[in-house]
Amino acid sequence: MIPITNALTIDFEDWYQGLEIPYTEWDGFEDRIVSAGRRLLDLFAAANVRATFFVLGYVAERHPRLVREIAEAGHEIGTHGYSHAFIYEQTPQLFREELGRSIKLLEDSTGQSIHGHRAPFFSITQDSLWALDVMGELGITYDSSIFPVLNYRYGIADAPRWPYQVQSDVMEFPISTLRMFGRNLPIAGGAYFRIYPYQFSKRGLQSINRQGKPFVFYLHPWEIDPEHPRIPLPKRVALTHYFNLSATERRLKRLLNDFAFAPMKEVLYVS
Ligand SMILES: [Zn+2]
Repeated sequence: MIPITNALTIDFEDWYQGLEIPYTEWDGFEDRIVSAGRRLLDLFAAANVRATFFVLGYVAERHPRLVREIAEAGHEIGTHGYSHAFIYEQTPQLFREELGRSIKLLEDSTGQSIHGHRAPFFSITQDSLWALDVMGELGITYDSSIFPVLNYRYGIADAPRWPYQVQSDVMEFPISTLRMFGRNLPIAGGAYFRIYPYQFSKRGLQSINRQGKPFVFYLHPWEIDPEHPRIPLPKRVALTHYFNLSATERRLKRLLNDFAFAPMKEVLYVS
């Protein structure tokens, strides 16, 4: 049996950029994205696997060579916006400005056009569906931000679980979930991958492939950098951010060995 090819995705941002700290206050934090990013690139090269890197515009602005290096290693570059703000807290005008700025930065550093988008904090909800129209207008052809769960920060609980046309120009590839007890359980990456035992994640992801469907897996570079600084955070944020970081790299290697992966663009348009 030919294994199903799944989408491997990285939200490419530094450890302090997804902590609900405004980007105007990011200057004082230790920059670790180059070392953590290279570590991830080495790990993918050793496993002979390519991924989609949804790169934050702020990172691309400061590290254009690193972004070029990722693209030259054969990975797909997508956008993760510019400032890691919740889209539903932005005006459509500000979202458009930041998305346009991030796309330009990424195209300038890679020489390639950008097709994919992942929202910061998966923040495409019922309140920010207008963002999909803006994406379509700026040339984005697929989005992977709508999490079909309900969470304090994100989610549309009854959204489709498999890829679909969400807007006339934009496909949506939802973050993968497991259907359990009549609800969708998030399992496919980030903190969920660190919290559940590896065998639970593996069986859940296998069950998606057994249905003939690809899953979306996501991770951040700082999740394989357990030595990054500890700073005081609101309890609910600290609990998931720092949990079990030392296990991620080992688990990721097992995952890459147990499943077949490709960049999201290839999974969406080739299979
Ligand atoms: Zn992010």
